[in-house]
Parts: sequence; structure tokens; C-alpha cells
Amino acid sequence: MQTIVTDSAKEAASYINSGKIVAFPTETVYGLGVGICYPDAIENIFIAKGRPRDNPLIVHIARPADIDSVGREIGSDARKLVKHFFPGPLTLVLKKSHTIPGVVTAGLDTVGVRCPSNPIARNFLELCLCPVAAPSANTSGRPSSTSWEAVLHDLKGKIDCILKGAPSDIGLESTIVDCSNTPPILLRNGAVTIEELLGVIPEIRIGENRHNDEPPKSPGLKYPHYAPLARILLCTSGETVIPESETPYAWIGLTQPPVAAGFALVRQCGTTVEYARVLFDFFRKCDTRGIGTIYCELPPAKGIGRAILDRITRAAESN
Ligand code: AMP
Ligand code: MG
Repeated sequence: MQTIVTDSAKEAASYINSGKIVAFPTETVYGLGVGICYPDAIENIFIAKGRPRDNPLIVHIARPADIDSVGREIGSDARKLVKHFFPGPLTLVLKKSHTIPGVVTAGLDTVGVRCPSNPIARNFLELCLCPVAAPSANTSGRPSSTSWEAVLHDLKGKIDCILKGAPSDIGLESTIVDCSNTPPILLRNGAVTIEELLGVIPEIRIGENRHNDEPPKSPGLKYPHYAPLARILLCTSGETVIPESETPYAWIGLTQPPVAAGFALVRQCGTTVEYARVLFDFFRKCDTRGIGTIYCELPPAKGIGRAILDRITRAAESN
């Protein structure tokens, strides 16, 4: 299959409106979408990514008000979250409307819904004739794509079109909150932080069920994720790291590495926001450079630091 790369939202939407598969920029990471009115074509997302069939897709809407066409029995907590955080990097899990095909939700009675704030994404979604089901635009298990070049690297020849945009502002996937029950449960950390969510819904709970035997509330949480080819080693700030490696090694964190000499690639981030933005791109750069081990310094567990901790911990578990 030929993969067209375009900066025309109109052209990209015309592919969606004929049941084709299109990658597009958002403020979190790039998405890989198919219109939900083409249930047979949704299958192509799972094929292109090598994604397990039981991992549901997030439905992307152009306007916050479109939530009523996707979910049902939407309660006051969900309404409050929409009011505060839509459009933006927050996905709500709602009871699904009967119009959402089962292939999108992996057979669940709930659906993940997000309204991106990225202007190119919004323009594109407005031109699409139905909401767009889209997971992250990367090979399953690998770091999410935060640039159109990363999408091309993973998916060239497997998808119809890539809508070009700037690198993703946030760089990590959306926060996910399950609003299908009361009180809502935080399922995945992202740029909308627990501190901000508590400010709107003080009763919100933090879901933590991937380390026990219960089935995960969010099916995707049980799969390996975010992993570069390199091994990830986590280290605390100020820890003396003495790499013993025959392959080149790299460092990413908020401080300089303790052993200055010897790192083939070093990325010191000024803030946790910058750390989040560059993390997946750094992982990909390391793979291109043949790095064998990446040392990731643990950021403080607050704000977007929690989302970074989640991603680097899970990348380390995937090695
Ligand atoms: P990705 O877009 O690649 O970050 O993957 C979407 C994430 O959203 C996965 O972790 C899914 O498990 C989660 N998700 C999507 N729909 C639902 C849903 N109905 N219930 C719970 N989690 C969901
Ligand atoms: Mg993903």
C-alpha cells in the first residue's frame, strides 16, 4: 500500500470519509484513525499496529458536545470533566451508545472518548463525517509516535495517509478516567494530572489493578508498552550510576548523569513538562543510534511526573 503524506486536513479527511486509515497529529501523541461508520475497516488498525484485538480504541470527536452521540447515561461527574478539560488531553470512559461498533470497544459496554485540542486535529475531525476511532500511531508495544516522521518509520506501507503536523506538544498519551461508575476512577496518568482532577471531583479514586489478578479495567494496561529496543534502567536522582555495558549507553533525566564521561547520548530536561515531551522521541533516537541501555532518571511523583514514572516503569518492565 502507498502511504500518502499530506499537510491538507481536507485530503486526510477525504481518506477517512472513504473508509481508509489515516494517522493524524494530536497534542498528546499521533493517532491512527478510521471512521466509526466503517466497522469493517477498523480491523485494519489492529493489523497495521499488530495490536491485540481485546485492546479497545479511543473514539475522537470534533466538539465536546459530540459526546452525547458516543456515550449514554452520561452523569454529572463526566459532565464536569468535559466542562473543565475538553478539548484537551483527557479520555473519559462512558457507557457506550448503541451506534458504537463492538470492534471499537473490544466488545465492552463502555467506550473511551476524547476531544483533542490540537488545532490541526480539530480541523481534521470536523471534516470527518463521523467520529474517528484511534489508538496511538505506533507499532504495538513500541514508544508512541510524537512526530509524523516516527509514524512513517513504523507504519509506512501499512496505512493510507499521514496528516503532517508539528511534534506533539505533550508527548505522552491522554489521562484516562472511567466515568461509567460512581465515583470515577483514574485509569491512566497523563497531562491532566490527579491534582487537577481532584480539584474538580474530590471523590475520584485512583485505579491500581494491574499488579493483582483482577482483569484490568483498561484492557491495554496489561500489555507491554512504550519500549525502545534498548534496555531501560531506572535510577534515582543523585544515585551513582556506573554503566557496565559493551554497547553505547544513554541518559535522560532532570539532572546531568553522575558519570559524565561515557554516555553516548545525554538529554537533561529543564522541567518535567519537557521530559514528557521529549521522552518517546529520545527512545526512538537511541534505537537509531544503536544504544544498548538507556538510564532514565525518576522524576518527582507529582504533576505530569506521575505519567512519566508510569511510562518509564512500564518500558523497563517490557525489556
Ligand atoms: P492508546 O490509544 O494506544 O493509548 O490505547 C488506548 C487506551 O485506552 C488503552 O489502554 C485502552 O485499554 C484504553 N481504553 C480504550 N477504551 C476503553 C474502555 N472502554 N475502557 C477502558 N479502557 C479503554
Ligand atoms: Mg498506544
